Parts: sequence; C-alpha cells; structure tokens
Amino acid sequence: MCKLCDEGKPQDHSGSRRDFLKAATATAVGASLFASRPAAARDDDDDRRGPPEDHGRRGRRYIIRGGAVMTMDPSMPNKGEYPKADVLVEGKKILAVEQNLHAGGADEIDARGKIVMPGFIDTHHHQFETALRSFLADGVLINDGSGTPSGSTTYFEYILLTFAPVYRPEDVYINELFGGLSQIDAGVTTVHDVSQIHHSPQHSDAAIKALFDTGRRAAFGYFESAGANILGTNPGNQYPQDAVRIKKQWFSSSDQLVHMIMGGEVYLGDPTTDKSWTIGRQLDLQIAAHILSPFGIRPIFDKLAAGTGGNGNIGIGPDNLFIHMTGMSNFAWQKARDLGAQVSISFPIEMNMRHGMPPILRMQSLQMEPSLSTDVECTLTADFFTQMRSCMNLQRMLVNQMILDSPNGNQNLPNPLDWGLPESAVTVPGPFPYWPKPPADIPAPLTTRDVLRYATINGAKHLRLDGKTGTLTPGKEADILILDAEAINVAPLNQVPGAVVSLMERTNVETVIVAGKVRKWKGRLLDVNIPHLRRQLENSRDYIFAKAGVPQNLFSSQ
Ligand SMILES: [Zn+2]
Repeated sequence: MCKLCDEGKPQDHSGSRRDFLKAATATAVGASLFASRPAAARDDDDDRRGPPEDHGRRGRRYIIRGGAVMTMDPSMPNKGEYPKADVLVEGKKILAVEQNLHAGGADEIDARGKIVMPGFIDTHHHQFETALRSFLADGVLINDGSGTPSGSTTYFEYILLTFAPVYRPEDVYINELFGGLSQIDAGVTTVHDVSQIHHSPQHSDAAIKALFDTGRRAAFGYFESAGANILGTNPGNQYPQDAVRIKKQWFSSSDQLVHMIMGGEVYLGDPTTDKSWTIGRQLDLQIAAHILSPFGIRPIFDKLAAGTGGNGNIGIGPDNLFIHMTGMSNFAWQKARDLGAQVSISFPIEMNMRHGMPPILRMQSLQMEPSLSTDVECTLTADFFTQMRSCMNLQRMLVNQMILDSPNGNQNLPNPLDWGLPESAVTVPGPFPYWPKPPADIPAPLTTRDVLRYATINGAKHLRLDGKTGTLTPGKEADILILDAEAINVAPLNQVPGAVVSLMERTNVETVIVAGKVRKWKGRLLDVNIPHLRRQLENSRDYIFAKAGVPQNLFSSQ
C-alpha cells in the first residue's frame, strides 16, 4: 500500500486516514469502502509471495489452483472449459487439468478470481523495428503522391529503404530482445519473428541469439536483407544461401524454444524466389512470404498457384505460410486452400496501412481459418487484445452491413456514399422493417471463441507447433496465462471468452508462463532490468535515426 512501509520504514498515515474516515462516515457508501481493508491486507501478503521454487525445472511440480480454465481444446471433458479447475505443471509440461486435483506437496499458485488460458501466438511480427515504435503511426505502405501525412512518410520508403539498411548487429539484438520481452509482458508466448534484417551472418546470429535470450517460444523467420535488392547495398548479405549454416548451427535440435522458418518473399524477383523456396524445401523448413497486391504480387502469386512460379516450376504447398493475402485472385485462393497453405492476417495493420481488405470473409467462404499477426509496431501495437477485437469487429462490420443491405438485391455492393443503406432501401415485413433475417449465404458474425481460437491454437498449427502449444492439453508444454478477472475494468466475471476478448488489455495479464517457467509474475516481468534495456534501445534508436539522416521530432506527422 505504501512503498516506504513496505521497505520497513513505517510511516504515520493516521492524519490522512482520520480525515478520510471523517469524510467516509458521512455516507454509507463511504463507510463500506473502508470495510474492505482486512481483505486488502491479505491480498498484499499474497502479492508478496514469489513464484513456485525452481519453476520450469525438470520434475518440479506446481499447481495453478481454482481459476476459470479455458483450455481451447474442445476434445477435453467439458469441451475444455471449466468454471473452476486446477492445472498441474511438471517441469515444462502440463500434467493434468481437472477439478479438485490432488497434487501432493506441489507448490500452489492461487488463481481464484483469475482466468487461466493458453498464451497468445503471433504468426508474423517484425521485431527488429521496435526502436521505430510509433514513428509511422500515420503512414501507409508506399508513397502515393497525395502529399498527405499518411501518403508521404511511408513504410516502403522510410522503414525498409531508409532505416533498415543502417542497422548494425547490436541494433538487431536489442530491438529483437526488447520487442520480445514486451510481448511476453502482454501474454504473447509465441512469435514468428519476420526478421528482414540479414545484412550479414552477424546480423542473423544477433537476431537468433535475441530470440533465444528472450526465453519465449519463437519461429525465427529468415527473410531478406531489407533494401539490399532495391538499393544494391549490403555487400555482406548472404540471403538466402546462409540458411544452410543457420539451420545447422542453431536449429539442429527440435527440443528447444526457437525453431526456423524460411523467408521466401516473392517480390524480390523470380531468381530469388526460386532459390529461397528451393533451399527452404531442401532444409525441410516452412516457407513464409508476404502476399499482398500493393507490391505487384497478384500476377506473381497466380504463377505460384499454377505451379509455374520462380524460374518456372515453383508451386504452393502445405509448407507455405502466407501473410496478409490481400487482393489475390479467386484462382489463387482456391489453390492456396486446396494445397493446404496457411494464412496469417494482420487485421489492424492491413486496415490502417492500405494493404487491402483483410480477407476474413473470403477465408470463411473457403472453410479456412486464419491465425493473427501484429506485423509492425512502427505503426500499431503488438498487443493481442487489439488483434482479437479488430478481427472480430471488422468481420462483424462487414457481415452486419451485408445483412442490413440484403433485401436490396446484391448485399455485396456497398453504397459508395458511406457503405450504408442505399437511399431506396427495400424494407421487410414484420415489426422492424429495416431488420432483415440474415440470408444463408452470409457468414455468421464471429464470436469471442472464434477469435480466441485464431489467437491461440490456429497460430500453433500455422507454425507447426500444435504438438507443443496452443491449448492447455495435458502433455503439451505449459505456455499459460493467468488473467485478472477481478480487475476494475473486468469485474464482475460473467462470461470467460467475452471477458478476455471484449474487456481485457495488457494490465490484466498478471502471470505468464513459458514452457513451465514463470516469466511474468503478479504483473511484473521476472529476471529483466527494463530501465537498462530501455536505455540500450534508446541508444540504438538514436544511432539508427542519425545514420539514416532522419531527424527525431516528437510532434511530427511522421
Ligand atoms: Zn510483415
């Protein structure tokens, strides 16, 4: 309650307390405020307790007791949803999820009043851009000649061609580390880090080391050296052939938190596509690529879908993870689906930066489901509550308007004025003439469970990690969130998926566990010196801006 008292230097609070009491007794409500003191004192004791001893160590057990448990595994008893249950962890694995578990002498984590669920999984995040956070809050993808703030300071010209080329290995390391720790703090226990910053093998090793040092589950995405192809710079660039060394040196074991994905960007030219996809497949790696119409990718992707990509015989397969998939043809979509490719959607970024409409309705019509990805913090937060809410709200905006428009003929044709009802809207019989019954061909509005599935198990499947994470299924590794459902912005708890998706944010992420190891405890990251790391990140930021020749301006429209 008082920092000085807590530190063993008792302070006299009687004056202020007496004044408060005097005011409080004036009203019954005020008096009842004070009655909560003993409970608050007990909570304080509980808050001071540390995490279970030796958490995450082989054979060491602890039990998360009494929370509302949402396993995200519908094949489990009760569809994997328990109003009150216990989760037993041994070493790095989940041993059991049941009501009233007996756990012998296992240490206990009190999860009463909390929600216990799997960690979030981000299937596409450029962590190397952490030092550029909010720089491009107004910008779209490419300079559009409009002269507007959004169209002038833009992603392609500034982030990829101006800032990225000046990064040193030490910049890569601190950017990756800080961005990763920040996401652990927000409950994102797995990431696919799309690092396009491989100007040399030293840059690659710095990115990989940072992912390991962060101590969360990650796919290291070995992408290109940003700007090198276009600017003809970065002579140390060894992409894509250095993938062979990287895989051998860092990823010969599958029993570690970090694994490798091959970046196979298709807008770098057919010879590069040919080389990166071939190397990736020789190394038995997944191949990921940004697929979006603004960079001219639609015809390139059609060729890949036809099996004639690259130099003529590169085709889509189940080993592909495609990012965005905005603006692609019907033919390519059908092929991507039939051939088993996965799709990651970055809802907020795609809406904000003019990638095109996030293809959620398209995916629903093809019986496909996306995973979610945060993309870039130079423009928007890497927080997953934002991801889930943006996804759900965008899909609902589309289908709700389609339903309202449905009596007017083609519900897919928006009114060019504001996408609302046309002037001559057709009405329907019944008490609400402007409230038609949803036609059968319009997808159902997404639910909170849907977007939670996208944010957890779909991400695990799309990174080939569903044997290890994505649900709280016994036998999987323990990537667990304990969320505070008693917080002032959430209580009272009435619906678990709804509370998480509709109400929560980072401050509700109380405890975060990765492979059995507690990384955030009672609201605070463990084993990290944030001020020290922040200073390193600020130094890196200062270097990057200076070297790139971009002035720092806290109130610019950049
Ligand atoms: Zn991206």
